[in-house]
Amino acid sequence: MLEKHQLEYREKIRAFALEKIEPVARTLDDDQRFLNEHIKPMTDIGLLSMLIPEKYGGQPIDTVCYSIAVEEISRVCGSSGITVAAHNSLGCYPVLRFGTDAQKEKYLTRAAQGELMAFGLSEADAGSDAGGTRTVALKKDDHWLVNGSKCWITSATKAFATVATTKTTEDPNDREITAFIFDKDWDGYSVGKKENKMGLRGSDTAFLHFDDMKAPLENQLAEIGQGFKVAMITLDGGRVSIGAMALGLAQGALDCAVKYAATRKQFGKPIASNQMIQKKLADMATEIQAARLMIYEASQMKDAKIQFSKQSAMCKLFASEVATRAAATAIGVLGAVGYRTGDYPAERIWRDVKLCEIGEGTSEIQRLVISRELVKELGDKI
Ligand SMILES: Cc1cc2nc3c(=O)[nH]c(=O)nc-3n(C[C@H](O)[C@H](O)[C@H](O)COP(=O)(O)OP(=O)(O)OC[C@H]3O[C@@H](n4cnc5c(N)ncnc54)[C@H](O)[C@@H]3O)c2cc1C
Repeated sequence: MLEKHQLEYREKIRAFALEKIEPVARTLDDDQRFLNEHIKPMTDIGLLSMLIPEKYGGQPIDTVCYSIAVEEISRVCGSSGITVAAHNSLGCYPVLRFGTDAQKEKYLTRAAQGELMAFGLSEADAGSDAGGTRTVALKKDDHWLVNGSKCWITSATKAFATVATTKTTEDPNDREITAFIFDKDWDGYSVGKKENKMGLRGSDTAFLHFDDMKAPLENQLAEIGQGFKVAMITLDGGRVSIGAMALGLAQGALDCAVKYAATRKQFGKPIASNQMIQKKLADMATEIQAARLMIYEASQMKDAKIQFSKQSAMCKLFASEVATRAAATAIGVLGAVGYRTGDYPAERIWRDVKLCEIGEGTSEIQRLVISRELVKELGDKI
């Protein structure tokens, strides 16, 4: 059961999403256009500072509310959902959790004012095996010298700063990885061409290149050698937000299917009166509610500071697969018009949702995480 403030928050964000974002969701996708005009209203309503303390200008909320926000935005527009989720969970959170006071003051204050942050973990040869990073930062007298590239970076074209992992050793056999915050306006920092994606086309995704880039020593985030841990802890929270994004997309698919089934007539009656259609809608709704409860549970565990790696991987895995099924089922319920681009959101959702089974660890990797946690829980009982 949601608490009163959470229900009220849901109403507020739902109204915002319907008024501001739903009307342009289709054109963002059609034109591969970033949601520039949404940044100011999103900032004002607090969507870009949900995890940032008030002293840095944020509008902090609990993690259940955060998941609700990502769900409600994604319910009408996946591209906007991933932009919000990546900024908060992947850009801001590691600074909040591991940053010095000076780093928080410098970066979170700007982030709360609506300047986006990004997260650079993936590389061309280090995807699922994120510890295989080849980007390297070597300590010189008064700076780090950084060389390498990060790929698939959400909001790379827009972000004023990126939290990124690099090796901090030249030894090819040593996986010493350290986290940093890199600023877009430094010499040697450049953004690659925007990716042409099948879905989430209103979200900018691109390479980041670091070419003899000098990073000040104070931009190291957490201890040397702790970068992989920083990334994994960041992903624990991020996966809940990808779960919430999948949930919103699934709910959007259900909304579309129910509305259509109730109004589309064949054989002289609404198709919703056929038991086979009813089964599809009922199964979608039931799975979606189960995913929602898993996301709420993981969110509550995060706030209660209970280890939630397993629950976070489970809710992302389950919600993503539920959402993929929901999108395909919705297209089936709509028939031919579900297959046509534009009229109904089902096909856009179907294209958008696939990312949820890939980003922040594929479904295979979530299963590895879950099974690893299960064995860990067994501990010394074996
Ligand atoms: C739209 C989008 C946005 C993204 N945003 C970001 C971002 O902001 N920051 C960032 O750092 N990254 C981002 N990513 C990258 C994303 O996190 C990676 O794509 C993901 O981790 C998978 O890596 P990969 O694509 O290299 O796949 P690979 O690792 O090459 O995997 C390919 C296939 O092999 C499987 N596989 C790999 N290893 C195993 C194994 N041990 N056991 C079983 N199966 C395995 C995978 O599950 C997958 O099916 C984004 C990606 C996309 C598409």
